[in-house]
Amino acid sequence: MSDVIKTDVLIIGAGPCGLFAAFELGLLDMKAHFIDILDKVGGQCAELYPEKPIYDIPGIPQVSGQGLTEALMEQIKPFHPTFHLGEMVETLEKIGDPLFRCTTDAGKVFECKVVVIAAGGGSFQPKRPPVPGIEAYEGSSVHYSVRKMENFRDKNVLVVGGGDSALDWTLNLAPVASHLTLLHRRDQFRAAPDSVNKMMALVGEGRIDFVLGQVSALEGEGGQIKAALVKTNDGSNFSIACDALLPFFGLTMKLGPVANWGIEMREGELIPVDTGTFETNVPGIFAIGDINWYPGKLKLILSGFHEAALMAQKAYHYVFPGKRLIFQYTTSSSSLQKKLGVVG
Ligand SMILES: Cc1cc2nc3c(=O)[nH]c(=O)nc-3n(C[C@H](O)[C@H](O)[C@H](O)COP(=O)(O)OP(=O)(O)OC[C@H]3O[C@@H](n4cnc5c(N)ncnc54)[C@H](O)[C@@H]3O)c2cc1C
Repeated sequence: MSDVIKTDVLIIGAGPCGLFAAFELGLLDMKAHFIDILDKVGGQCAELYPEKPIYDIPGIPQVSGQGLTEALMEQIKPFHPTFHLGEMVETLEKIGDPLFRCTTDAGKVFECKVVVIAAGGGSFQPKRPPVPGIEAYEGSSVHYSVRKMENFRDKNVLVVGGGDSALDWTLNLAPVASHLTLLHRRDQFRAAPDSVNKMMALVGEGRIDFVLGQVSALEGEGGQIKAALVKTNDGSNFSIACDALLPFFGLTMKLGPVANWGIEMREGELIPVDTGTFETNVPGIFAIGDINWYPGKLKLILSGFHEAALMAQKAYHYVFPGKRLIFQYTTSSSSLQKKLGVVG
């Protein structure tokens, strides 16, 4: 077993609501670690609509999903939360009163006094392309994310898709791979125009190939792909040799392991909470943001911010039992301002 990481609070999910929770916890001197299955912070805002404007964040007339994520990261900087990205929380169990143990799919083990589940709609799962038998290659030579670029060094890589992920990984892996082909069903892209221009420049320099068509079948054995059969829009077929296939067809959200943690659930996918504290039926485990349910719940970012503030008030009593909590404003409390680093 790896060394146990101990913290006051473990936040599962680094979406906007989880991020703001680190601010409210930090103001009350609680240290937080984050775990998120994505390789970046921001949850739905960063993954599903980074460039779309949001118009209903109080006091901010307009901000993009990515802009809000960056502003939240700036706001929580004084509290130095630790991020464990690209890891999924698999198990969560109560081992004391209150003490929880949590493990991730990367083998990390955490112990904490408070758990905040801010897992939104669950984990983002890659959409699997409709290619017969693709499951047999998944995890060995078909990958839906790039965890380590080095794994693709000197490989013949086939990237499939026309969105940001497909284009970003084409650009990033082009210097690492022995050869790289980008395959997309049409010559229009959903990715950022700058990435498309850079990709086209690489094609122009002969450093990568761009091919129009769709994968219809795979060839290989023992989990190792050798070639992808491609069907073009005019119905003709040909084969592209490759050692690694990276399909980027977008993400869907699935609840994943949250359902197995022994917490009361509603309709199998939402966690009922007390609206005074946003605590679940298990003392010390809180649920904020899109994952929770209570009468009148609105799945809005502003609701999650409010929930985070009330959660922190109750969490304080688990982390500092018997210690009095004095309510203070950031505008007028020099002690809060010191924590924020705005006064000496
Ligand atoms: C297209 C679109 C537009 C939207 N526009 C608006 C808007 O204008 N205004 C507004 O208020 N809201 C809007 N929303 C909704 C808003 O994005 C959500 O309410 C908000 O993202 C919820 O935040 P969250 O932190 O609860 O969860 P999420 O943003 O869903 O983040 C949850 C995080 O938890 C992680 N996670 C889940 N399970 C695990 C696990 N087991 N282990 C580790 N990590 C895990 C996920 O990877 C994810 O990063 C919009 C949503 C969409 C899709």
